[in-house]
Amino acid sequence: MLKLWRRHLPECPHIDKGRTWVKCACPIWVDGSLDGRRVRHSLDTLNWQRANQIVHDMESDLVVVKNSSISDAVPMFISDCERACSHEMGRLAPIKPGSPTFGPD
Ligand SMILES: [Zn+2]
Repeated sequence: MLKLWRRHLPECPHIDKGRTWVKCACPIWVDGSLDGRRVRHSLDTLNWQRANQIVHDMESDLVVVKNSSISDAVPMFISDCERACSHEMGRLAPIKPGSPTFGPD
């Protein structure tokens, strides 16, 4: 289970209230366990709603991966790569069996 908390900045007037105090505008962090692994890092947002969405996505992605076979996971992985790369490198050409990217037949 993942929990959100605010890492109070030194100038925050609520710093003495501890990390469970969330009614300020300090950076939001996540802490907890995801698939047996410890998770503790900044979510790079000050927006509580956005932070909840990020955590929801992290947990949802894990469920999708756990319930996927290899044949389901490969297209999802390629799709994720295309989406991630498209921001910086433009659209990737789809990789198809028998295409030159797989080498000579
Ligand atoms: Zn604060």
